[in-house]
Order: sequence, then structure tokens, then C-alpha cells
Amino acid sequence: MATLSAMLSLLSTLAGHVAQRAALARLLTVGRPAHALLFEGPVGVGKSTLASAVAATLACLRPNGAESDRPGDACGSCRSCLALARGEHPDVARVEAQGRTIKIEQVRALAPRLRYEPVLGRHKVVLLLEADRMGEEAANALLKTLEEPPSRTHFLLVSSRPQLLLDTIRSRCQTLRFGPLAAEEICTVLASEAAQRGQAIDPALLRLGAALGDGSLSAARLRADPAWHPVVAAVVDAVVHLGLRPVGHEVGQVEVLSALIASAPALQTGGDADADPNPEAGTGSKGKGLDRERLLVCLDLLRAVLRDAVLIGAGIDATSLPHAPWAAALQGLARRVGVEPLASAIEELERTEAASVYNPSPQLALEATLAAMARHARAGR
Ligand SMILES: [Zn+2]
Repeated sequence: MATLSAMLSLLSTLAGHVAQRAALARLLTVGRPAHALLFEGPVGVGKSTLASAVAATLACLRPNGAESDRPGDACGSCRSCLALARGEHPDVARVEAQGRTIKIEQVRALAPRLRYEPVLGRHKVVLLLEADRMGEEAANALLKTLEEPPSRTHFLLVSSRPQLLLDTIRSRCQTLRFGPLAAEEICTVLASEAAQRGQAIDPALLRLGAALGDGSLSAARLRADPAWHPVVAAVVDAVVHLGLRPVGHEVGQVEVLSALIASAPALQTGGDADADPNPEAGTGSKGKGLDRERLLVCLDLLRAVLRDAVLIGAGIDATSLPHAPWAAALQGLARRVGVEPLASAIEELERTEAASVYNPSPQLALEATLAAMARHARAGR
């Protein structure tokens, strides 16, 4: 049976999701968790880590009771917990996509072990990460198992696209929903991760990462990486100078932005790779040109900067905004151009984003968008 990563997650120490963690703690102490639990919510908010913590508690021989100050946590010291911490637990299996899908062989491979009683822990646990990536055969094989659940066994399904799961599987699961993390929660986690690595991290960059991560810890972690700073600075520079540079300079500007994004740390696909009808142009291409993935990153960053300029123009206190370090320049832009042309520029971005799936040339699309944004800026006051 495959094993968990060599790390024991405890429910009480995880970030965010206070109400859901309290509900899980109740379920694990005084409740009766269903044979199948579905952890659903956006990418990168900690669903897998929470499911791992629940797996640890279900397997633990002496889990904390309801009266404990950390109810529902695994004890951390029994044979089961020690095996999990070593990453080798015979009763806890972790199934994840091989390539793009979870294959039927992976689900079938669970069967022999599910017939027996737990070897080490209190319960057997199967963690199915990105469960929506099960192909039809795999899903039907799992459904058969869920229809006659083996004794003392729990299935923990994790999914950011639960609508792709079979209805018959969903209806057998007790569903736990997780929303985006708050920016402060993300900042706290990123700061503590940096401290653990002994790294000093610029608080402004942390706030920026948290804001651009849009509730996803993994996206925020990436955006707070100092290696992303030159990209953000170049995007801010492009926005601040909207309409001031000669017509046609967008060609060179897009080349600079593409090269900067290409040399920044790789983005996660966000589990949407399947939605891309043109996968060879998506994540994973190593060229310096602007592929669709990089176009979308660029549009996101541009929109975030423009949004801050609009808010500053509307009189919002700039210190609380993600792009606070550039507040003076953005203030200047808002004063020079006016708020409405900036809002029109945001609409241009949104149109480009919506059309990006069908656009054969992300490079040309971004050039045209920047040119249109510059026209709006010139038309301003
Ligand atoms: Zn334990």
C-alpha cells in the first residue's frame, strides 16, 4: 500500500478553516464519520493537508478526546502516529493521479489490503487526492467498494472540481466544504514557513503574494517568492506608464514581460490543465515566448495593479493594498488618467482573458490588449 509523505499533520495546528476544523474535531471525537468524506474547495487552500490530519486521527490508537484542549488531534506518539511520521503506514494509503488520471489499476490495487483488519492503526484510511481525476472505470470500481464499505475503513476524497465526480459517489460521501483562505491567514502561514527555513522575508512581498494568491496558499507562496518581484515591478511599470510611451512599443514590452515570467519560478497548473484545449501551449512549455499560461499570469498581475490604482483613485487608504510599495506612482497614474479609463482598461483585460482559450497567439493578444489599454489612458483627462 502506498504511504503518506513522512509528515504527521495535526488538525489543531493547520492554517485557517476554523469552523471546518472545529466541525471535524467534533466529528472525530463525539460524531460518527461516514465511510467516505469528501473535502471539496478551491485549489491550494489546504484540503489535502486537512485530509491527511483526519487520516492520522482515524488511524491513531490514542486520539485526543472531546475534553482535550486539542480535540480530534492524533496523539503523535503511538505506533500508528510514529509509522505515519516515518511515511510508512500499512493501513493508510494515498492514491493520486499518475499523469492526468487515477487509473483503475490504482483503485483495484487497494482491494486485497481492504479485506483485512487494520495492522497497526484503529482504522484503515484511503486518501484519494484530486479524486475528480478518476477515469470512468476507476470511479466505478471505487463506487463498488463504497457500496459495500469494508469494516473499519474510511475513504477521504479530496477535490477542487467535485462537479466532475460521479453523482453516485458524491451521494455516498459526507461533504466538507472549504473556502479560500483569508489574506491574513496566508501571510501567517508564509511567514512561519519562512521562519522555519531561517529566511527573512519582506512583509510587503508577503502581503502582495497573499493578495495575488486569491485565497490559495500555493499560489500565494509562489507570488511571495522574491524571484517574482521583478515580474511584479515590470507589470507595475507598464501600468504606471500607460499612454505615455510611443504607440507600437508594446511589442518590446511583451517580450520583456514574457522573458521575466519565463525565468520566474514555475506556476502550478491549478488542476485546470484538462480544460486547456491546447495543452502544448500551456504549462510545461519551456520556451521564452508567451504561452497561454503566461498570458493569464500577466493578465492577473495587470488586473491586480489596475484594481489598486482604481481604489487609490477612489480615495482608499493605499497602505492596506497589495501594491502599497508603489502607492505614489499609482496615485500619480490615477490622477493623470482618471478612474473610468482605468476601469475600461480592466475590461480590456477581461475580454482578452475570456477569449484566450481560442487565441492562437497569446503574444499578439497581449500586445493588442496593452495597446487598447494605452488608448483608454490617453483618452483620459
Ligand atoms: Zn497516535
